Amino acid sequence: MDEQVPVYLQKLRSIPKESFLFGPSPIQFLPRLSKELSPNGDVKIWAKRDDCNSGLAYGGNKVRKLEYLVADAIAKGCDTLVSVGGVQSNHTRAVTAVATASGLKAVTVQEKWVPIDPPLYDKTGNILLSRLMGGDVRLNNEPFHIGHKTATAQAVEEVTNKGGKPYYVPAGASDHELGGLGFTNFVVELAAQEKALGIFFDTLIVCSVTGSSHAGLIVGAVAEGKNRKVIGIDASAKPADTLAQVARIARSTASMLDPKLEIPDSAVILDERFHEGIYGIPGPSTIEAMELAARTDAMITDPVYEGKSMAGLIAMVREGSIGAGSNVLYVHLGGQPALAAYSSYF
Ligand SMILES: *Cc1c(COP(=O)(O)O)cnc(C)c1O
Repeated sequence: MDEQVPVYLQKLRSIPKESFLFGPSPIQFLPRLSKELSPNGDVKIWAKRDDCNSGLAYGGNKVRKLEYLVADAIAKGCDTLVSVGGVQSNHTRAVTAVATASGLKAVTVQEKWVPIDPPLYDKTGNILLSRLMGGDVRLNNEPFHIGHKTATAQAVEEVTNKGGKPYYVPAGASDHELGGLGFTNFVVELAAQEKALGIFFDTLIVCSVTGSSHAGLIVGAVAEGKNRKVIGIDASAKPADTLAQVARIARSTASMLDPKLEIPDSAVILDERFHEGIYGIPGPSTIEAMELAARTDAMITDPVYEGKSMAGLIAMVREGSIGAGSNVLYVHLGGQPALAAYSSYF
C-alpha cells in the first residue's frame, strides 16, 4: 500500500502537526456571484472557506499554517510564541489564539504597516481579540515590510532574559522552514473533497502577501500533477518582494518534501493588478468586489486581503481569462475581524 503513496505525501504525513481546525474547511458554490459574472453559466465560481476553518478566534489561513509551527515549538520545549504584524494583523491574532489554546504565551509586535488612523483602528477588530485572549500586544511605528524585524528580535531576547523559552514566528508564519506545509496540505484536503463532489477545480485564486499560503498551494498543485492553475493576487503592493518570497518558499518546501520535486517558474503566477497601490488600504476595485460578494452570496471579505483577491477573480471572469467550462475556486483565507476597523470606508 505504502508503495502507491507518493514520496511528498509520505513525507508530509510524517511531519508532526497540531490539530487546530474543525476538519476540512467547507467548499461552497456561489450561485449568485456566478450568475452575475457569467450569465450563461459558462463559469462556475466556488469558494473554499478557510475563513471558517477553526473555532480558535475565527480561524483563517494563519491557523492552518500554525498547526505545524506550534507542534515544532512544543517539541522544542518553548513556552512563548513571538511574532509580528500590523495593528490590525490577522496573523498576530491567530498566533495569540493558537498559543492560548495550547497553553503557551504570546508576545506580538504590532507595527504601523498601514499609514491610516481611522476611528478605533488600534482598539477594535483583531487587536481587540488579541487583548481579550490575554495576549501581550506591543504597538510600534515601523512601516510595512514582509521581512524579519528588529522589534521581534528584541522581544525574543526579552523573553529569554526573563527565563522563558521563545519561539519566533516570522510575519505571516511564512519565511520559516515549516511555513509552506499548511497550504500544501490544503491541496491534499481539497483533492479528497473534489473526489467526493465529483468535480475538479482547474483554477485556484488566492491572495498573496507574505507568500506561504500561495507557495503551499503551488507545491500541492505541482506535486499532484493535475495541471491545476494557481493564481496569486498580490495585496502587498510590493509584488517583487512577494514574488521572490513565494518562489523561495515553494522551492524550499518542495525540496523538503521530495528532493526530486521541482517547481517550474511557470507555476509561480502573481497578478499585480489589484493591490490598489498600497498594502492595507482598499481602492475602488476592492470596494466593488467586497460589495459584489456581499450582495450576491452574502460572502464577507475584508479590505486588506480578500477584497483584493476577489477583485482579481471578478476581473478575470469578466475579461475571459478564466473561460467557459471553468470551475474556479476562490481560496477564502479569512480576515473579516479587521472589517470593524474600516467602517469609515463604507
Ligand atoms: C495573511 C493573510 C493573507 C495573505 O496570506 P500570506 O500567506 O501572508 O501570503 C490573505 N488573507 C488573509 C485574510 C490573511 O490574513
